[in-house]
Amino acid sequence: MKATYQFLSLKEANAPMMAEIEEAANRVIRSGWYINGENVKEFENEFAQYNQVKYAIAVSNGYDALKLILRAYIELGCMAPGDEVIVPTNTYIASALAVSDNGLVPVFAEPDAETMNLDIAKIEQYVSDKTKAIMPVHLYGTPCWNKALKEMAENRNLKIIEDNAQAIGAQAAVAGINGTTITGSLGHASGISFYPTKNLGALGDAGAVTANDEELANAVRNLANYGADYRYHNIYCGHNCRMDEMQAAILRVKLKYIDDENVRRAGIAKIYDNEIHNPWVIKPQIFKHCKQVWYQYVLRVKNREAFRKYMYEKGIETDVLYPTPLHKQPCYSHNKDSRLPFSELLANEIVSLPISINIGQDDAKYISNIINQYNV
Ligand SMILES: *Cc1c(COP(=O)(O)O)cnc(C)c1O
Repeated sequence: MKATYQFLSLKEANAPMMAEIEEAANRVIRSGWYINGENVKEFENEFAQYNQVKYAIAVSNGYDALKLILRAYIELGCMAPGDEVIVPTNTYIASALAVSDNGLVPVFAEPDAETMNLDIAKIEQYVSDKTKAIMPVHLYGTPCWNKALKEMAENRNLKIIEDNAQAIGAQAAVAGINGTTITGSLGHASGISFYPTKNLGALGDAGAVTANDEELANAVRNLANYGADYRYHNIYCGHNCRMDEMQAAILRVKLKYIDDENVRRAGIAKIYDNEIHNPWVIKPQIFKHCKQVWYQYVLRVKNREAFRKYMYEKGIETDVLYPTPLHKQPCYSHNKDSRLPFSELLANEIVSLPISINIGQDDAKYISNIINQYNV
């Protein structure tokens, strides 16, 4: 038993590869080439291959990745400011800000009780004449995908923009395809984050766009580099959203280990699933038809604040992702009268258990045992 079970220690998470990371970083420092060099190019190739897509564009962070996709679709004439994008209300704010920052309107939708992801069966009710896209977020590392989503998008000519920030390496079942298919290759385009806490985390900010559509990929690449299609020739009023060589070099090291890390996380999730038995606690579902990567292991508990205090007193840190549904955020206060009751209930019950590398299998058993003794 440890004195404290930290929710996340980035120091410990990076420790096993630190020598390799330092070597890669040192090579960049000594190279004299810091932006748009060999490492970014190679990382893009390696990441596109990992993610089973034709194109990966390395960018500054996950938020910019999503923003650039939507901006590219605007530039390509697929949508225009004022159009609507369906976004789950129970996600990180970046998913929705990427929409509103482009002058598009996020339409907030309820999650489903089993997956915690967008309730696909209910999506139709959010669709209007102005709807141009849906943004499934693979929340906590569980794929948000099914046949109904794909068919509805096809029938209504909607773009599917995956927010893959939490689900690198996850796999979904896809109708008509044997086996499973990796998230980030399912929709028309996908944004990913390499924020340090993510399963594949940089040592700073970084992100990527993945897509199979060449026109979209080119538009994103140009927009991320001041809108230039070649040097000093700007076809868009673009941005500077580049990933730097240092982060690309570090990510190339860490990409080699992401599948092992996802397997390790699944192992801890399985222990929690086997060991936690408490009538006041609802465990997340482990699905057979897809592969989850457990960015978070999220319980639902009665009297959450008391639960967190109880856990804290036992030395176990927990976290809440996310305490406020987006339709209730002050910046989206024009939605303040809207009711998405299930998301509001969930926001009061969810709590994440530690699942990072500092939690070993015995730790997970110990934590489960402590949870089993919790009484409302
Ligand atoms: C982390 C995250 C983002 C944003 O990524 P950044 O790299 O921090 O900009 C977007 N969406 C979701 C669901 C996230 O978890």
